[in-house]
Amino acid sequence: MTSSSPGREALAYAASRLVRHSAELGPAPSLAAAGPEARLVLMAGEAMIVRAAPDGGTATALLVPDEAGSAGERAHEIFLGRAEGRPVFAAAVAAEAAEAFPAPAYRALDLRALAAEGAVEREEQGLLATAKSLLAWHARNGFCANCGHPTVIGAGGFRRECGSCGLHHFPRTDPVAIMLVRRGESCLLGRGRHFKPGMYSCLAGFIEPGETVEDAVRRETREETGIAVGAVAYHASQPWPFPASLMIGCVADALSEAIRTDPDELEDARWFTRAEVAAMIAGAHAEGLTVPPATAIAHLLMRGWVEGALDSAAAPNA
Ligand SMILES: [Zn+2]
Repeated sequence: MTSSSPGREALAYAASRLVRHSAELGPAPSLAAAGPEARLVLMAGEAMIVRAAPDGGTATALLVPDEAGSAGERAHEIFLGRAEGRPVFAAAVAAEAAEAFPAPAYRALDLRALAAEGAVEREEQGLLATAKSLLAWHARNGFCANCGHPTVIGAGGFRRECGSCGLHHFPRTDPVAIMLVRRGESCLLGRGRHFKPGMYSCLAGFIEPGETVEDAVRRETREETGIAVGAVAYHASQPWPFPASLMIGCVADALSEAIRTDPDELEDARWFTRAEVAAMIAGAHAEGLTVPPATAIAHLLMRGWVEGALDSAAAPNA
């Protein structure tokens, strides 16, 4: 890989300066008791409140406690852990609360826009992904799945506890296999119906209970395109906080070539040569076809394949 190519350092949400509190560490400090050292991430609906840097430097979503006062009532105040020694909290407020943070001093950005713009430091993106996924989980898990009794926040926000049956509930992460399927000098890419026109990407799908990552790669590839897959090797992963996925990036060797697209899953799937994918990455494809941005793990897999970085990744686990 050449030094000018964006690699893993370009992946959104994949770096975090957060030292997590985690469920094992028990009780957490409260924001009220933490004092002015504390920092607070505020989610207004689906948007993060981001404070612009006064000198034109990098913005931040780590607000000081006094700034949060104008946001109104906060729901699900949780303790994420520490960043550079400071206690960091997160809380949800109503979408309208963003109006209390006017431009140009502040902006309200959803996490996709925030990552696409590089609006905050890369090491802050991972922290914000943790905040978004946890807050989304708390918003939907106010009642015990075992007995129906209301649950309360425990371990600072890394679990919920039922006061009736005593069960502890832990936030979920949804694993997704995403794969660069290759055969000789070609790779298999598809496009979903919701993709922007002309964009092709790696195949992907949720891993099911009781399934290995390797088998999920094989099953999803067969379901979506009819292609049989043999060896599968892990390459890289990326948190994807919409709301709580973990993208597990793999390279896989195809055993067949005839594509039968499942119209319910994909609009189209094709084999592409390295030269074609290189042109798509460069924005110079003859048909105007494109790939996802460098912030997405699909891009990392496609670029890695074009540049030969995946050539040695072939596990004998067929
Ligand atoms: Zn219960």
